[in-house]
Amino acid sequence: MIGPPYEIFKGETTMDKQQKQASQPKEAVPPVKEPVKGLVFDIQGHSVHDGPGTRTTVFMAGCPLECVWCCNPEGLFTAPVLMHRETKCVRCGRCVAACPVGAVQIIDKKIIQFNRDLCDQCKTHECAEACLKEANVVSGKYYTIDELMKIFTRDRQFWGGSGGVTFSGGEPLFQKKFMLPLLKRCKDAYIHVAVETTSCLPSDYYMEIMRYIDWVFTDIKHMDPIKHKELTGVDNALILKNIRNLGQDPKWNGFALIRIPIIPDTNDSDENVRATAKYVKESGFEVINILPFHRLGESKYRQVGKSYRFAECRPPSEEKMNHLKAIIEEEGLVCYVGYKTPF
Ligand code: SF4
Ligand code: SF4
Repeated sequence: MIGPPYEIFKGETTMDKQQKQASQPKEAVPPVKEPVKGLVFDIQGHSVHDGPGTRTTVFMAGCPLECVWCCNPEGLFTAPVLMHRETKCVRCGRCVAACPVGAVQIIDKKIIQFNRDLCDQCKTHECAEACLKEANVVSGKYYTIDELMKIFTRDRQFWGGSGGVTFSGGEPLFQKKFMLPLLKRCKDAYIHVAVETTSCLPSDYYMEIMRYIDWVFTDIKHMDPIKHKELTGVDNALILKNIRNLGQDPKWNGFALIRIPIIPDTNDSDENVRATAKYVKESGFEVINILPFHRLGESKYRQVGKSYRFAECRPPSEEKMNHLKAIIEEEGLVCYVGYKTPF
């Protein structure tokens, strides 16, 4: 008998394989690990303040405090936020048409009004893309650690022998999962790191992360816990405890400078400044920097849809600042006024 004109295939067909595969328990596919990202609302190169030498300053978003005079209100947000700049707006209405949820309207052809409850939840910010006048901008961008390290490598040639990176904010140490590994990377790369911190952080984490920081600028905004809470939203117990722990930690060999923002009729009494100086000295620190109140952040309050309580407040006089400096010096400390510092 003559067989079929083709060879009968006795092996496993593709269909067999697929069926077999489908009936077998699936092997777990390891998830692709997303790199941790941090929310940054500004990066400034060539800064000569807030640390020795020339520095790259990174402004990290989010803060446990909400000081009523804060000069970076956009740094209080924990997600990218829309800023509307009235002076650039020509009321063309492109943003009105672009917003998918109707959160922006033009009133009487004159006023652009944003529904901030909707905008603060917005993830897409189409209104910013639609605006041709840069009147709508988004503050806050996510970076990976590698991306920031790349910027530091680029800037390093401008830092000179003593410069480095300063982390400001917001509270620069607030984004713990991002900052710990980032600061470890900086340490491994021999980058000088300074931070401008509130010191309002869990104590274990605060002491852990300080191991990777060379210079600390930290505020004491008021010695009275009740007044501190009125002005910042939190009482000062944790802040004072962390500052004292740092000053008395023999293993920490960085430099810390305590700052007092001098806010007229708020924390500028002789008693409060003297009490702060005594606390600083008892904690083992030697230098205080008093910073006069200014209104440079005022327009940003409008841009993020917040109200500003200090519109009528004037900066303290030079005499007042020198008077407070003398009180601090009487307590045996070095005191610098404003940005007249050697660093
Ligand atoms: S698109 Fe820009 S310029 Fe036009 S109304 Fe909106 S914010 Fe103003
Ligand atoms: S931020 Fe979002 S919700 Fe607000 S106006 Fe723009 S697109 Fe609309």
